[in-house]
Amino acid sequence: MAGRGGGHRLVGMDDTRHYGFETRAIHAGQRPDPRTGAVIVPIYATSTYAQDGVGGLREGGYEYSRTANPTRTAAEEALAALEDGRRCVMFASGMAASDAVLRAALRPGDHLVLGNDAYGGTFRLIDKVLTEWGVEYTVADLSSLDAVREAVQSRTKLIWCETPSNPLLGIADIAGLATIAHEAQAQLVVDNTFATPYLQQPLALGADVVVHSTTKYLGGHSDVVGGAVVTNSDDMAERLFFLRNAAGAVPGPFDSWLTMRGMKTLALRMERHCDNAERIVAMLADHPEVTKVYYPGLPEHPGHDVAAKQMRRFGGMVSFTVRGGEQRALQVVAGTELFVLAESLGGVESLIEHPGKMTHASTAGSLLQVPDDLVRLSVGIEDPRDLEVDLRKALG
Ligand code: PLP
Repeated sequence: MAGRGGGHRLVGMDDTRHYGFETRAIHAGQRPDPRTGAVIVPIYATSTYAQDGVGGLREGGYEYSRTANPTRTAAEEALAALEDGRRCVMFASGMAASDAVLRAALRPGDHLVLGNDAYGGTFRLIDKVLTEWGVEYTVADLSSLDAVREAVQSRTKLIWCETPSNPLLGIADIAGLATIAHEAQAQLVVDNTFATPYLQQPLALGADVVVHSTTKYLGGHSDVVGGAVVTNSDDMAERLFFLRNAAGAVPGPFDSWLTMRGMKTLALRMERHCDNAERIVAMLADHPEVTKVYYPGLPEHPGHDVAAKQMRRFGGMVSFTVRGGEQRALQVVAGTELFVLAESLGGVESLIEHPGKMTHASTAGSLLQVPDDLVRLSVGIEDPRDLEVDLRKALG
């Protein structure tokens, strides 16, 4: 049916929910095209669709590609299946997805609780844009359920959580936060960008909404910017679908197709990201120039037990601080060859950055400010021996 998010399905799609994760990644939403037999979902590069008489939409209910496009529908079906969620709405970027969730859930006078270690862009959106529309927020340490209980008010409608968080790899107890949110008649949103549905499925743990920057591990190859929201709530999905159609932050068919292609190998890539990250963490933990390593797989990480309970493994993101302060950290990030100095994360190639001056510059002077001697790694899937040598050289 035109104008409704759930009405658009690829013709001939099977329900793949009973299959394992890796099977769903390859088949959910992606059955061979019934007309041509094309095994891979085509890139439907079309802005509009012929109608058989006014309002006579053909199979799938497509009318205009801002509203829906079959390649995007297939990618949405695939990601919904990976998160074990009922509905997925994709956006032009992770920030567009976050913006739509915030606008769908909040009205002037409402309040939300935000982690003290959130992605800088999320903080900027809430602090600089939402507050102008009369939304208030409280920053809390989400690793402490008591701190969250204290931050929740009668006007609280959302708890916004990243776990593991960006860039300090903080861990929040998703099930615990869901209980607090629901007791307060609020919703729990989990930004699952760092973990991906392969390592962690927040909806199964009680979260109401999952947000992704698909730019990262889901796309997986640093070649596309995108975002997505997955939820079991029809009401939330319909609001998101309405907002996306009204405001227009849609991913194009090629972007949707690249994201879907990336998701097919998510499980394989994540295993290798985790293997390589563990090896790099072991090296850093022993290195005399490194003062602290942030990785939830380390037994001494304060969130290790919670992470072990709610995650399959601990991911490919690693942060650490260095002896010598900010100047030394800036030298280290400029001193690698294989680790490319760049923002973003989650691609097959290893990246290195200085959060304080790069991804998290917008948090300067706020409660979310990050240490200035912090270095963040997105550990790729290269030969880990090469990665280790590269980092050792930069650390000196
Ligand atoms: N959430 C997290 C955890 C991120 O790291 C990012 C981007 O770095 C975003 C959301 C925003 O996504 P995008 O850059 O696709 O808009």
